[in-house]
Amino acid sequence: MKLKIFQKGFNYSQDGRGNRLIYHLQGCNMHCPWCSNPEGIKTGGALMVDKTWLNEGCCPKGAVAGGELERSRCEACQDMPCVFSMRQKGIRLSCKEYSVETLVRESVNSKPMFFDGGGVTLTGGEITLQFQAVKELLERLHEEGIHTAIESNGTHPGMGELLPLVDEWIMDVKHYDNRKHMQWLGVPNTQVLENMKLAVGNHPDVLLRIPLIPGFNDSEEDAEGFADIMSICAGQQNVRLECLAYHEFGKGKWEQCGLTYTMKPARISQDTIQLFEGIFREIGINVVHT
Ligand code: SF4
Ligand code: SF4
Repeated sequence: MKLKIFQKGFNYSQDGRGNRLIYHLQGCNMHCPWCSNPEGIKTGGALMVDKTWLNEGCCPKGAVAGGELERSRCEACQDMPCVFSMRQKGIRLSCKEYSVETLVRESVNSKPMFFDGGGVTLTGGEITLQFQAVKELLERLHEEGIHTAIESNGTHPGMGELLPLVDEWIMDVKHYDNRKHMQWLGVPNTQVLENMKLAVGNHPDVLLRIPLIPGFNDSEEDAEGFADIMSICAGQQNVRLECLAYHEFGKGKWEQCGLTYTMKPARISQDTIQLFEGIFREIGINVVHT
């Protein structure tokens, strides 16, 4: 089987324990307006433009004019010669395909780099959009004795199948209110909450993360709302909870993908983070910073 990957490399912290090889898988079923990897959202990959190198010679079908790519023309372009048969630097596809075997070989060869309890992390995009290939890769990595972590938005109904294949289970919980979840992200939170319960009750090493986003989930009322749904984590030794502050690191990539970044300039203050953490700690949840 094959996996579409839009980024890979090593990272220490935030993506699981120790030094890890991180595979970012293409495709996501949410459309968070703050996403720092917008090139990873479109299932088939996003065409990314580098304006420094963009010129009419980048597209043999005439889709580049006046220094702009007319993306509507690309929708019907099957063979995409700009990406697959030309040498040019103005347009690229965000992802490439790799066989599971290639990734296993790369991971095995990387074993000396997995210090401090490291290993391989599958993240996104959303990993479960390529569910069968992800499952096969996790199985093969386990056979090779490699520590595995996943980062997921928690929306796949079959996530229970992954429980025995994953050593560190990292999952975002973006909102307790289904209506707001639907409105901002385009999908309900019901399956996310089910998968959170499943992981908390059955997995030995769970890291839940709340990305705190201005105007979306950062009020005191929101902190209380989260505390309600997170109360199942109280006193659970297998569960850690982390609050992550909104940032704009991916903003430039939205334009490269032909998308509009709609978030207004704003920040999450230390006071807000402390408010959330304080409420969670009060009810006995293990709050961490990774
Ligand atoms: S996808 Fe097709 S139409 Fe679009 S830039 Fe590439 S070659 Fe041109
Ligand atoms: S779930 Fe993650 S990858 Fe998907 S759109 Fe939201 S921030 Fe981006």
